[in-house]
Amino acid sequence: MKKVAVIGAGAAGMMAAIAASSSAEVSLFDKNMSPGRKLLQTGNGKCNFTNEGISPERYRGSLKENGILDGILKEYDRDFMLDLFSSFGLLYHKKNGCFYPRSDSAGSVNDVLINEMKIRGVRFHGSTLVKNIERVNGRFYLTLYDLQNNNKTKDDTGFDACIITTGGKAAPKTGSTGDGYYFAENFGLKMVQPLPALTKLISDDCFFNDNPVRAEALVTLYIDGEFSASSEGELQITNTGPSGICVFDLSGRAAKALKDGKKCVLSVDLLPEYSEEAVVDILKKHTEYPEIFLGIFSEKLSINIREKIKNDLFNGRELSGEISDRDILRIAAFIKDMRFTITGYGDHTVSQVTSGGIHGDNLDHDLSVKGIPGLFFAGECLDIDGDCGGFNLHFAFASGYKAGSSSLDKE
Ligand SMILES: Cc1cc2nc3c(=O)[nH]c(=O)nc-3n(C[C@H](O)[C@H](O)[C@H](O)COP(=O)(O)OP(=O)(O)OC[C@H]3O[C@@H](n4cnc5c(N)ncnc54)[C@H](O)[C@@H]3O)c2cc1C
Repeated sequence: MKKVAVIGAGAAGMMAAIAASSSAEVSLFDKNMSPGRKLLQTGNGKCNFTNEGISPERYRGSLKENGILDGILKEYDRDFMLDLFSSFGLLYHKKNGCFYPRSDSAGSVNDVLINEMKIRGVRFHGSTLVKNIERVNGRFYLTLYDLQNNNKTKDDTGFDACIITTGGKAAPKTGSTGDGYYFAENFGLKMVQPLPALTKLISDDCFFNDNPVRAEALVTLYIDGEFSASSEGELQITNTGPSGICVFDLSGRAAKALKDGKKCVLSVDLLPEYSEEAVVDILKKHTEYPEIFLGIFSEKLSINIREKIKNDLFNGRELSGEISDRDILRIAAFIKDMRFTITGYGDHTVSQVTSGGIHGDNLDHDLSVKGIPGLFFAGECLDIDGDCGGFNLHFAFASGYKAGSSSLDKE
């Protein structure tokens, strides 16, 4: 029977092991004592594992540009993923287009994957760091380090195929420390610089002194003055900069632009469902109330905005008493287009995923490495990253399944 090694027991690794185990003897290695350490933290512990709108438009990276992503998402689409998890015994439900386990516990997703691996005879080697991978006469030999007993061992039996699913660099405490990039470079593969994505942005323009203030908003990123992308949803404004899901979705683009020395500005529209003219009309009516933002924004948001308007628009004059039509126009324009110059972004310790990684040009459509038969990569270590909402886990599961199935085709 063919022997397959899977390195990394995250979403991609467990799925690769399950797929490969249909006709191979599979060994799964992870630094952690048990599989799925990051998976358990996803979706605030609820695990948003796929989305009703899975499509390539929701991703960025070289695997999208060369069509590999498209092939994988067509073969392993949302319905495939839901049916697969159902067949493992998972009940799920949908909220705002996002799929979660019915239990609302990431543990349920992890449990069904672990159970499936047990049924299929996958051998899990926990607390085992893979230090090196060598390919000799078409077989893969691993240098392993037993983290519990502090000793180095070498796998001398060798494997017919090796699937690397070691993740990116996001949340490194979960074990994802970019080791796959090191393995890829040792095999001579081309890389795209890994950067944090789905992370907060940093701005000196932040005037919010309170704890984070939340609001529904439309945020738009401009790079060197040009429109880059927009996202609508929950915004969190902290005293270091804008955050929240809609900001996360733009953060990968901003991080890359800043690295390239470009200027990034984020525009926030706090009432995207109303035109500027409609906001003017609303504000005019609200001048009759004791507080102009009464019934429009939360108290916390109102206090902070009033302070900003006082300092930046009104030269220290309080926003109270008679408000002229001209001032109403300026306030409306401010609410529709609050600007933050972005100076930085949250690092890997606070980001949810990594953009960049192993370039798609290294790979064939079955996720095998061109010119190195039997070697596969899957999951977040690849140069692809998706929006918030289950897109990253979907890709990790789908690409893991693809690499696991493809590894069986290797002669
Ligand atoms: C806080 C948080 C919340 C998130 N929420 C969501 C969400 O709700 N929905 C969503 O779609 N995505 C979410 N994500 C992103 C998603 O979790 C990842 O994209 C996905 O888990 C990546 O899976 P992976 O298997 O490729 O890598 P990982 O899950 O990072 O797994 C890699 C594994 O490889 C192991 N490993 C690494 N190097 C070695 C080595 N040398 N030897 C042995 N083992 C090694 C690691 O220990 C780790 O277990 C979230 C991420 C974070 C951090």
